[in-house]
Amino acid sequence: MERRIYLDNAASTPLHPEVIETMMSTAKNIFGNPSSIHREGAMAKNVLEESRKILAEYLNTSASQVFFTSCATESNNTIIRSACESGRYQHIITSPLEHPAVLKSIQYYSSSNSIQVHYLNPDNHGKINLDELTPLLESNGKNTFVSLIHTHNELGTILPIRIVTELCHKHGAMFHSDTVQSIGLIDLNVTELKIDSIVGSAHKFYGPKGVGFMYLKEPAHIQPFIYGGSQERNMRSGTENLVGIAGMIKALELVKTEMAQRIKHIKILNERLRHGLVELNIPHELNSPTEDCLPKILNVYFDKSANTDWLLMNLDIEGIAVSGGSACSSGSEKASHINEYIRPNSLGRSIRFSFSHLNTEEEIDYTLQVLKRLIL
Ligand code: PLP
Repeated sequence: MERRIYLDNAASTPLHPEVIETMMSTAKNIFGNPSSIHREGAMAKNVLEESRKILAEYLNTSASQVFFTSCATESNNTIIRSACESGRYQHIITSPLEHPAVLKSIQYYSSSNSIQVHYLNPDNHGKINLDELTPLLESNGKNTFVSLIHTHNELGTILPIRIVTELCHKHGAMFHSDTVQSIGLIDLNVTELKIDSIVGSAHKFYGPKGVGFMYLKEPAHIQPFIYGGSQERNMRSGTENLVGIAGMIKALELVKTEMAQRIKHIKILNERLRHGLVELNIPHELNSPTEDCLPKILNVYFDKSANTDWLLMNLDIEGIAVSGGSACSSGSEKASHINEYIRPNSLGRSIRFSFSHLNTEEEIDYTLQVLKRLIL
């Protein structure tokens, strides 16, 4: 069989074998509708509510503050639309480097509700300048909704979430953070943090696609995004994706036992790639910051490669899956909004390598050799 090296774990991760087992057994044995009052329904409801308890414990909050959704895009849309339509906020502060699930929701819902959006100016490693955020909060804090990504999905940059939460609250602003890439690698104790809302998506931490969650500190302040049969305590109608939820919760339980080991391993892989690029004299610059960066992600700019999908496609031909930060589908040569922001008019190509505990050091060495051959 053709050899494949998967270094695109920020896009999605493979299902953990134990997650597959849990999903198979849930699919086989739990078929009732959690809203039905008969025994089959009660069994399904039990799986649902036990899952909710585990998620709540993981985030150190109460089960009444966590809600299952179909994905993080839906979770982000729910929170942002509700904020924009609540009449409570006249200002939004965000960054041009947010994931489209946040950026486009803000653009859409703010314009239909006459809300003013302030875009911060992160540096070209994605770092937010708190000195820029503070005066904006000082002038409009109480009427402001702030949305900033916790761990950047393309660059890996980590936001000082505790400081930003405190700063927002000091000035009466609400703070939402897209924590999709953090779940499974950084513990988030939401009660201690006092953050207003966060979101997660199972397929980023070895769970299934099509299932996610949101944490809401004050659920009563949030309006549903989808109306219908009042599931999820009226927050998200639609029969729950029980198999997906069971899989996501199994994946979270595995995070609890495996996280430290996983991080240790991906740090080794990240450093090996970084050092290898230097040792092999492959001309490059790091887009990811060298400090306060999620070890899962290493984003590198190759000046010697044309700003097209040529490098990406040739890596794929050589059996290596990485991301070029393309806006939409593979084959598109349009640079992502991130690349356009951090390297406007650049002639070279940025590549995001994202690691998993399933990758090996030997895979990194092979990737380095291929890069050397393709770039030099
Ligand atoms: N936010 C971030 C930071 C992401 O990386 C992603 C996925 O790429 C999303 C949101 C959207 O997640 P989902 O695929 O669950 O809608």
